[in-house]
Amino acid sequence: MDFDVIFIGSGHASWHAAVMLSQAGKRVAIIEEDTIAGTCTSYGCDPKILLDGPFELKNQLRQYPGIINGDVDINWSALMDYKNKIINPLPVQLEQVFKAVGITIIKGHGQLTDKILWRLIQINILPRISLLPLVNILVD
Ligand SMILES: Cc1cc2nc3c(=O)[nH]c(=O)nc-3n(C[C@H](O)[C@H](O)[C@H](O)COP(=O)(O)OP(=O)(O)OC[C@H]3O[C@@H](n4cnc5c(N)ncnc54)[C@H](O)[C@@H]3O)c2cc1C
Repeated sequence: MDFDVIFIGSGHASWHAAVMLSQAGKRVAIIEEDTIAGTCTSYGCDPKILLDGPFELKNQLRQYPGIINGDVDINWSALMDYKNKIINPLPVQLEQVFKAVGITIIKGHGQLTDKILWRLIQINILPRISLLPLVNILVD
């Protein structure tokens, strides 16, 4: 299969560009070995914000002693269920977006195998040239 652009990894660093390029008519593929959407969506920013929310609220309430009385009890198990309910569907939803805009998703471990490519990265001329003739990508 031929592509104009192949991204290794489906995190924020790649998927925004992948969607734009695909919408601009390029043949785009994303190789992902874990969950679609990367760290921020499944393990990082988004889960952190959801899990942190009740504790931030609790800390705010503590700033009003004598005005707001009593302590807030956070149900960790219910909070995890809430986090999972919001976060777990996101990779599937994003995968549907990728497919809808014509991006091919390849599940597996992507690897650059061309030594010339690494040299080009080192001397920082990569953005100015066409990658495709130089890249040999393995997916297992
Ligand atoms: C706990 C935590 C909280 C965070 N909170 C915030 C926040 O509040 N705000 C913020 O701006 N940032 C936050 N970050 C940072 C944010 O998650 C990262 O900056 C962002 O995810 C980086 O995006 P990326 O696409 O470069 O990498 P990633 O999101 O890590 O995506 C890389 C993807 O590539 C895949 N991959 C890697 N190698 C291969 C391979 N060889 N073949 C196939 N697939 C591969 C991985 O499986 C992964 O899905 C947080 C991070 C963590 C861990």
